Amino acid sequence: MSLELKNLYDDFRDAETIKAYAKIIQEDAKKLTSSINIMEVCGGHTHTIMKYGILQLLPQNIKFIHGPGCPVCIMPKERIDHAYVLSMQKDVILVTLGDMIKVPGSNGSLQDARSKGADVRFVYSPLDCLKIADENATKKIIFFAIGFETTTPMTAALLDTVIKRGIKNIYFHINHVTVPEAMSALLADDECKIDAFLGPSHVSVISGSKIYEEFPRDWGKPVVVSGFEPVDVMQSISMIVKQFIEGRCELEVEYKRAVNREGNLKAQELIEKYFQKADLFKWRGLGNIPKSGLRLRDEYDSYNVENIYKNVLPTEEINDHKLCICGDILKGKATPPECSIFGTACKPITPIGSCMVSSEGACAAYYKYGNLI
Ligand code: SF4
Ligand code: SF4
Repeated sequence: MSLELKNLYDDFRDAETIKAYAKIIQEDAKKLTSSINIMEVCGGHTHTIMKYGILQLLPQNIKFIHGPGCPVCIMPKERIDHAYVLSMQKDVILVTLGDMIKVPGSNGSLQDARSKGADVRFVYSPLDCLKIADENATKKIIFFAIGFETTTPMTAALLDTVIKRGIKNIYFHINHVTVPEAMSALLADDECKIDAFLGPSHVSVISGSKIYEEFPRDWGKPVVVSGFEPVDVMQSISMIVKQFIEGRCELEVEYKRAVNREGNLKAQELIEKYFQKADLFKWRGLGNIPKSGLRLRDEYDSYNVENIYKNVLPTEEINDHKLCICGDILKGKATPPECSIFGTACKPITPIGSCMVSSEGACAAYYKYGNLI
């Protein structure tokens, strides 16, 4: 067999294996005494579930709740407004990752800011800021950092390099969030309907599976950390169903080829060195969640634009659109098609709520794979 990238994931997309798992799940599900609602926390899993038609392969008594696992979708308008205002400051180049430039804030998106003359750029890696800073020595480069545990080490690596090289024109607006706190906040909601979790992939590579140990232990909810491919997801669903029929409630790892209990200790060290927990972070659709966001440690305040530009950054709270039911979707109380503006006023090119913004959002995935485009 040749060493092509394709061969690495072929087995994990094999139709026969997927069908075999579907059969096992169908048979096992007959032994369940009540239905199971599984939340996939990660947007990558939402994408896989919708793209490969996994919902259609499952019996009626196994349902999915699409979780808050897209760092772009959960960004509240207040933070986007910060980015917008910062991009408009004199001699600023605002840099961020991917889809972030499309998210609408109350004044528009970063794309709109760009059309008004702001210098907004997107990069694939935070370290690309080094080149931008080098080529624009008279400008202030502001990195608008987003993402879960997955991307936080890269932001920390950028700051580490900036300090070690004595670079004077790179600054940070930190919007990194952490997954377990959001999972706990969802479970703490009285109306929460989650019975088990499909644990995120990349996040777990960095943090290790240990971050989910509290969920079976303290909340009575099984977690299976799953890979991204459809065979991974089917195997993980099967593992969850087996836990229910065997009366077990455990943390298991299906994605053993990449995840262990401890995670990437070097990455965790780097995060620990530069970041501390923020008291509160507001998640779009979910509201304020204590200790769910990170901020730079006080000793790095001179790199923190929330400090440097505090006089120009807006502080007022902004509500989500009144017709948007993202909060209910993220809590498993509704599905995207139940939103009255799904696919009409709210589409990927004109997103109104958070779940329609990036391709990993639940509404965007339903729109794309529900034959609406
Ligand atoms: S694990 Fe990866 S795909 Fe899933 S939410 Fe995190 S970054 Fe996104
Ligand atoms: S379709 Fe749009 S407005 Fe409706 S819930 Fe989804 S993101 Fe919100």
